[in-house]
Parts: sequence; C-alpha cells; structure tokens
Amino acid sequence: MSSETIFSKIIRREIPATIVYEDEEVLGFKDIAPQAPVHVLFIPKNEIIPTLDDLQPGNAQLVGKLALAAAHYARQEGLAEDGYRIVMNCREHAGQTVFHIHMHLLAGAPLGHFGA
Ligand code: 5GP
Repeated sequence: MSSETIFSKIIRREIPATIVYEDEEVLGFKDIAPQAPVHVLFIPKNEIIPTLDDLQPGNAQLVGKLALAAAHYARQEGLAEDGYRIVMNCREHAGQTVFHIHMHLLAGAPLGHFGA
C-alpha cells in the first residue's frame, strides 16, 4: 500500500497550492521553492506511485500523460520555442524528497547543465 504525501493534500485542496493545470488524471502546480523562473510540478491525481522505479507496465502510460500535460502547459505559456527542462528524480542520489511521482518543468531562462 502506498503512503500518502503532501501532494495528496494538494490534490484534495486541503493545503494551498497554485494550480496551473488540471485534467482527469494530472494536476500541475507551482513548486513552493522554484529553481527557475517557471517551476511547475505535474503529478498523477488518482494513483500514488512513490518513485519512477515503482512504475509498472500497467501504469507506465501515466508518465506520458505527465509529459503531455507539461508540454501543453509550456506551449500555452509561450515557453516551448525557447525550450524547457523536464526532470524526474528517483530516490536518494537524485535528491527525491516527495514520494509521489512528479515531473518537474523548469523554464523561463537558460538553464545550466547539471550532473554530479
Ligand atoms: P523532488 O526533490 O522530490 O523531486 O521534488 C519535490 C518538490 O516538491 C520540491 O521541488 C519541493 O520544493 C516541492 N514541494 C515540497 N513540498 C511542497 C508543497 O507543499 N507545495 C508545493 N507547491 N511544492 C512542494
């Protein structure tokens, strides 16, 4: 059984968040500690999958839906032409802190390259 995180409270509107995208399966909201001028998190609304490593063939389509939502938002906000970065952190070495899979959309300025 997957444990709830703070993101479940955001989905249920029990804590405030700046929601910028919603469809049947995906919620998008601004990150509370933005790492770029635009920093939005896209999460599945109906399932808690703790990490990318917990994804199964039966729910793998969710990651595509997160990507489609992020791309739609980027186009809508006029970010697509200059470009943007999508990030999914998996567990400790990537710095994952919330164990409900999420896709970061970072945009709005040139982003530095990253790595170890
Ligand atoms: P991770 O490091 O797990 O990939 O990313 C989790 C993200 O969730 C972080 O960028 C963090 O700032 C964001 N975050 C954590 N708690 C909250 C919250 O209560 N509200 C919002 N909007 N973002 C949060």
